Amino acid sequence: MKEENSHEDLIRTFTDYLVKNKYRKTRERYAILDCIYKHQGHFNAELIYNQMPKEYQVSLATVYNTLELLQECNLIVKHQFGEQMAQYEKTFGIIFHHHLVCTSCGKIREVPDVTISKLLQKKKIPRFEPSRYTLYVYGLCSKCSAQKKNGVKKL
Ligand SMILES: [Zn+2]
Ligand SMILES: [Zn+2]
Repeated sequence: MKEENSHEDLIRTFTDYLVKNKYRKTRERYAILDCIYKHQGHFNAELIYNQMPKEYQVSLATVYNTLELLQECNLIVKHQFGEQMAQYEKTFGIIFHHHLVCTSCGKIREVPDVTISKLLQKKKIPRFEPSRYTLYVYGLCSKCSAQKKNGVKKL
């Protein structure tokens, strides 16, 4: 399993990837990585777009394009929770957590879990080297579960 990355490691990983694939090393791309680095929790392209300092004048298309590149070099991961817009998450500097997905209202809750994380890190998988795990738990959030019990129909 990967150790926690320093900011320099992230920059290096991204730069190596851009160079190897002959992509341009634009300051906008690095500014987007920086913006993601500072953000806590899940995000989507629009959120990053709105948080970008105005001096960069990046388009939403550039944000999407950069998110694709960051995904390809494993610095971020894409989640698709039900029918919502795709959510992204950093793969660095985060604590292992489950995603509790409410199948009724679509709410996502993150639950850190040290016990499972330790178990997974110890687990040996033959002929395979795991780099990360994602765990989704589907069910009903407390609000939806209460509504169901009270027989209230959700529109
Ligand atoms: Zn719910
Ligand atoms: Zn998460």
